[in-house]
Amino acid sequence: KLVSKKWKAKPTSVDLGDNVFIKDGEMAIITGPCSIETEEQIRKVVAHCVENDIKMMRGGVFKPRSSPYAFRGLGLEGLKLWHEIASAAGIKIVTEVMQTSQIEEMYPYVDVYQVGARNSQNFNLLDELGKVDKAVMIKRGISGTIEELLQSAEYVFSGGNEKLILCERGIRTYESASRNTLDLNAIPILKAKSHLPVIVDPSHGIGIRSYVPQMALAGVMSGADGIIYESHEIPEKAYSDGQQTLDFAQSARLAAWIRESFAMR
Ligand code: PEP
Ligand code: MN
Repeated sequence: KLVSKKWKAKPTSVDLGDNVFIKDGEMAIITGPCSIETEEQIRKVVAHCVENDIKMMRGGVFKPRSSPYAFRGLGLEGLKLWHEIASAAGIKIVTEVMQTSQIEEMYPYVDVYQVGARNSQNFNLLDELGKVDKAVMIKRGISGTIEELLQSAEYVFSGGNEKLILCERGIRTYESASRNTLDLNAIPILKAKSHLPVIVDPSHGIGIRSYVPQMALAGVMSGADGIIYESHEIPEKAYSDGQQTLDFAQSARLAAWIRESFAMR
C-alpha cells in the first residue's frame, strides 16, 4: 500500500501554509465547537485560539446527526463567515465534508477537509478527495478496524492527494459507560504501519467532558502527532455535543498540558 511505511519510510508532513503543519515531531492542537453556530460564537472561539497560540480551529457546518430533527449546521454560508473571521486571525479551518457535491463549493474556505466517522468508507467521497489539492483528515469508522482506516486513506492517497491525516475517534464496543471506546492501541500501531500523521479525538472518544483532558494526554503519550477536541464558551448551550465540550478555561489548561506532555515525551 502507498500509505504504508514499506512504501515510504519518511513521515508525511502536511503543510497547511503560514508555517502550520500536522506532522511527526510536532504536536498539532485543533479545537473548536462541535457545530459552528453564530458569528458571535465564531469570534469568541477564534479569539480563544489566538490567545492560546492554537493555529487550527475545528467546527462543523454540515453536521451528520443521528436524528434528522437535530441541528444540522449553518451550511456554506456559515463556512464563508467563519473563513472570513478565522483567516483574518491566521487560524486554519478543519471542517467536515459530507458529500462529493460539497467539495468544490467548500474549497476556497477550508484548510483541512474532515471525513467523518460515518463517511469513513464513503468510497466515492474518498475518490473525489483524492483529486483535490488540499489536506484531508479521515476519521476512523464507527465500527471500523485499523486496517479499514488505512484502506480508506489508500483511496485518497492513490488518487494523488498525499496531504492526509488519520484520526482515532473511538469505536463502538459493548461498553456503554462511555460514548465510544477510544482505542489508544491504534496510535502506535498506525504510526508503525503508516507514514501518515495520526491525531486523537478524545471528545468523541470518551464523550464525557470531565474525562476529555486525561484521554487527550494519554493520546499525546501514545505517540499521536496531534489532538483535536471540542470547546465552546458555554458548553451547556452548545447546539451539539455539549456534554463532551470543554469551556475556554478548561481548553486553555489542556492546551498547556498537551504541550508540556509532548515536551516530556
Ligand atoms: C465531529 O467531529 O463533530 C464528528 C461528527 O465526529 P465523528 O465523525 O468522529 O463522529
Ligand atoms: Mn461533535
